Amino acid sequence: MKLYDNHNHSQFSFDGAAATVETSARAGISHGLSGMCFTDHCDFFVPPVKAEFEHLVPEQFDIAAQQAEIDRVRKHLPEFEIFKGIEIGLERLSREENRKLLSENQFDQVIASVHYLDDTDPFWGGYYKGKDWKTAYGHYLETIYEEMVWLGDFDIVGHYDYVARYAPYPECSIFYKDFPDIFDSILKYLAENGKALEINTKTYQDYKGRTPVPDRNILLRFRELGGEAVSLGSDSHNPGRTGDKFPYFAGFVKSCGFTRLAHFSMRRLILDPID
Ligand SMILES: [Zn+2]
Repeated sequence: MKLYDNHNHSQFSFDGAAATVETSARAGISHGLSGMCFTDHCDFFVPPVKAEFEHLVPEQFDIAAQQAEIDRVRKHLPEFEIFKGIEIGLERLSREENRKLLSENQFDQVIASVHYLDDTDPFWGGYYKGKDWKTAYGHYLETIYEEMVWLGDFDIVGHYDYVARYAPYPECSIFYKDFPDIFDSILKYLAENGKALEINTKTYQDYKGRTPVPDRNILLRFRELGGEAVSLGSDSHNPGRTGDKFPYFAGFVKSCGFTRLAHFSMRRLILDPID
């Protein structure tokens, strides 16, 4: 079975120093992948709250340098497919900059993700203050929907459940039954526009004793609405996690009625059969 890891960070991401394009690609080969995409971070807006915890650095990357390095590694590993990507941070204040950057550069694949919202950072805090779990998760999903529809120019919606990863609530997973309307809006948009829903395997690992799980009802509903494209991403920041638990999650996607998995080349959707 051909497996592609469509979400990886390299030395070009502000937080990806432990992984290089070359070491991650070699790890991808040894983990049995057919290819991978490097989706380095690009967030134009970083909330000031982050400065209380760490030295703020620009969260954009040198696209030309990343793509030149991918070209170099491709020559050494011709049997392995390496794609040029970006993880663009959806944020209201960055709308115009995001659109401009995407129109001026070429990528194989674009992931659109929400990392920061309402001037806060779910990882470093602020976001959950004064909100119960339902409000916090629901507002995150609504922000994904609003911002991705505005942008339009993307292939995969990244980690819809990122907001649950670091949340302070015992409710650590996001279920369709709690947010049916907003999920329907997101999934319908993806299905109608040939875009992919990401299963981000980084969310489903233990974090401080909490282990979120993906909800099969989200995938079943996506299928029902005509969705075809599901993308697997490890969100690796070190080579050891490249392709993490992919055979398991490929089986999970298949059990929800999908016969193929998505990856992108030159912004074109490619579907590979799940064995
Ligand atoms: Zn991300």
